[in-house]
Parts: sequence; C-alpha cells; structure tokens
Amino acid sequence: RLSSLDGLTGIANRRQFDETLQSEWDRAARENAQLSLILIDIDYFKPFNDTYGHQGGDDCLQKVAKTLESCVSRPGDFVARYGGEEFVVVLPATDEAGATGLAERFRSAIQELQIPHEASAVSDIVTISAGIACTVPGSELSPERFLQLTDQALYEAKERGRDRVVCTSEIAN
Ligand code: GH3
Ligand code: MG
Ligand code: MG
Repeated sequence: RLSSLDGLTGIANRRQFDETLQSEWDRAARENAQLSLILIDIDYFKPFNDTYGHQGGDDCLQKVAKTLESCVSRPGDFVARYGGEEFVVVLPATDEAGATGLAERFRSAIQELQIPHEASAVSDIVTISAGIACTVPGSELSPERFLQLTDQALYEAKERGRDRVVCTSEIAN
C-alpha cells in the first residue's frame, strides 16, 4: 500500500494514478460513459519556495493535497499527487460541466486557505490553475493522449494569466 502513496502528502502517487486512469478508462469505454480529468498546478510555486523556504513549500503542498481531497465526494473520484506541485483528479461518470464545477470548487477552497504568497504575480495568496478534459473513451483517443490534452488545457490556463480553469473545449487543438 505504501508504494501507492505519496510520501509527503499521504495521498495517492503517480503510480496509483497511472493504474487508476487506465482502469477507469477501460470501464468508461465498456459503459460508454463520460470520463473527466483535471490537472492542477500551484501558481508561482518556485518563487514561493524561494520566499518561504523548502519547509514552507512542503507545508503548503500538504495543505493543498488535503484540501483537494476534502473537495471530492463521490466514491469513484480519485485525487493524486502527479509530481512536484502538480495534482491530478480522475472523475468517472462526470461530464464537462461537472468537472468544471469541481475545478472551480478546488480553486475557491485553495483561496480560502489564505496561504500568504508575497512573491506571486497574480495574488497575495496561494492560487492554482487547472486544465480539464472530458471524453467518452473510444479508439480515437488513448489515456496518454487524454492526459496530454488535459495538460494543454492547464498550459492554456497559465497562458491566460493563471488562477483560472480552462477546459480543452475552450482551446483550438
Ligand atoms: P507556474 O505558475 O508557471 O506554475 O510557476 P511555478 O513557479 O509554479 O512553476 P515551476 O514548475 O517552475 O516550479 C515548480 C517548483 O515547485 C519547483 C520546485 O521549487 C517546487 N517543488 C517541486 N516539488 C517540490 C517539493 O516536493 N517540495 C517543495 N518544497 N517544493 C517543490
Ligand atoms: Mg508545475
Ligand atoms: Mg506551478
């Protein structure tokens, strides 16, 4: 069990995410159901570390992880630390509107933590950006490509100014 948990935050790690994405992908394909993915990245986290120290950074990561987990409620919803200051959420049987609503809830919940961030260019507290993709899995897409598309949406959220949520449907591919 330990090998599937992230040592710093105690939530699922990248390895467990890889397995979950594949199994939920297969299940949604069988059931012809929607599957959504959210990638979350803390804004200006390198300057946060530079300002508050590595321990301050680690404390922030732990709080963010706990908060993201506290926002999901359905049995199949899955939150993992993807790496560094990035988190990923797998949402079975969830359409774009549902995923967007949840991503906005994440953004508000992180703001409500009111973690000071004097080195951020978008706010004076810690904020997150999120990218979302939603699909009914089929042969035209692989889980790897689905993840890539989600990452493109996250990149777009950063490009558009950070502290926001962008869905793949809002960007030209
Ligand atoms: P952006 O708004 O574009 O996301 O900028 P950023 O500074 O957050 O992006 P970047 O990817 O350059 O920086 C991520 C930083 O996260 C790098 C490293 O200092 C920090 N980091 C990654 N993993 C850990 C960790 O386990 N603990 C701590 N304290 N910091 C970490
Ligand atoms: Mg990052
Ligand atoms: Mg970042």
